[in-house]
Amino acid sequence: MSSARPLVIGGGPAGAAAAIRLAMAGTPALLVERNRTIGDALCGGFLSWRTLDRLRALGVDPDAIGGHRVTRLALIDGTRETVRALPYPALGLSRYAMDTALIERAIALGTEVRHATVRMDGAEAFDESGVAIPASAVFLASGKHETRGASRPRDAAGPDPFVGIRLRLAATPALARALDERIEMHMFEGGYCGVVLQDGASANLCMAVRKSRLARAGGKPAGLFAELFATHPILRERLAEMPDDAAFDAIGHVPYGWRARETLPGLFRLGDQAGCIPSFAGEGIGIALASAEAAVDAWVKGGAEAAPEYQRRFGAHIAGPVRTAGLVTKLSVRPSGASVLARLAAIPGATGLAGRLTRVS
Ligand SMILES: Cc1cc2nc3c(=O)[nH]c(=O)nc-3n(C[C@H](O)[C@H](O)[C@H](O)COP(=O)(O)OP(=O)(O)OC[C@H]3O[C@@H](n4cnc5c(N)ncnc54)[C@H](O)[C@@H]3O)c2cc1C
Repeated sequence: MSSARPLVIGGGPAGAAAAIRLAMAGTPALLVERNRTIGDALCGGFLSWRTLDRLRALGVDPDAIGGHRVTRLALIDGTRETVRALPYPALGLSRYAMDTALIERAIALGTEVRHATVRMDGAEAFDESGVAIPASAVFLASGKHETRGASRPRDAAGPDPFVGIRLRLAATPALARALDERIEMHMFEGGYCGVVLQDGASANLCMAVRKSRLARAGGKPAGLFAELFATHPILRERLAEMPDDAAFDAIGHVPYGWRARETLPGLFRLGDQAGCIPSFAGEGIGIALASAEAAVDAWVKGGAEAAPEYQRRFGAHIAGPVRTAGLVTKLSVRPSGASVLARLAAIPGATGLAGRLTRVS
């Protein structure tokens, strides 16, 4: 490792937060992002109360960005819904709005942003022409999928991995009324989908479904929704205005439950590269911001050599929330699991406890 600037790879929440933290510590970074424009990443767009506190600590005020206040969770098992208050208010916010605010803050603090698809070799980063990018330390925040040269174990996503599917909907008056201040989780065998209002008069539907379940429905989201509408009338009502040619976004092989426990000196893994919590918990962005904070703290105190100890500690720190979210997810996607979960959620205090156990402190 040289005495050059720190290098951040990836401009999602983990990378942008690391760049902000590095600049706040007096060492603005070079951030390299493969996409030239900020997209609206496939995500449920639910920001927990902890995530909102972390954004504020970075100097990003979520209330100034917009979004929709969320105070209640509705767990819906086909026809029956169990509604519970969240421990604290949360927010429905599009990734476009949040990622833009974070990157703008990083740039305002002195971060330089360049565009390239980075490849790793050990703890060294290379641009597309194979030229090494000098760095005093590398903060790898390239998200849930593999980065060439810094791969996860092949089976990280498990034998029947989850596929993420997202649909943006116009917030019609009926939908806006139904979703006012609440996030809905529609549960079914093999998957679940969250629906929440966001900024820009839109609603976001985001589903995680096992690959085998999607295949059983013919492999296409439209086929799966057609099947679900027969047994899930509330979901059908929410999607009443879905066009026949609805454009779904999809990502495959989400490595839910995976955690990094080791790394090389000089290579700090952040966000989904550090651990991938099942999206049922709505805490992935929280982990992204928490890992940025922990990694930059470790680097400031111990330099590049501190990376392996940071990774070990952070992996242990998120173990509880990742395991709890994994158990809830496993239960909800089993045959009859949704109705068991809905009954458990009706026990006073149970939802609040699960909400707390799946947060990263
Ligand atoms: C279906 C689903 C729903 C979810 N819903 C929620 C939710 O409601 N709430 C919540 O908190 N979390 C949710 N999550 C989790 C959340 O989306 C992730 O945890 C979060 O995006 C992780 O942030 P990140 O910065 O690590 O990665 P990302 O957001 O994926 O950002 C990675 C960035 O790195 C860039 N990049 C990748 N490779 C390279 C490369 N080689 N060189 C340069 N740049 C590169 C990418 O273009 C991207 O901009 C959900 C996840 C899924 C799958």
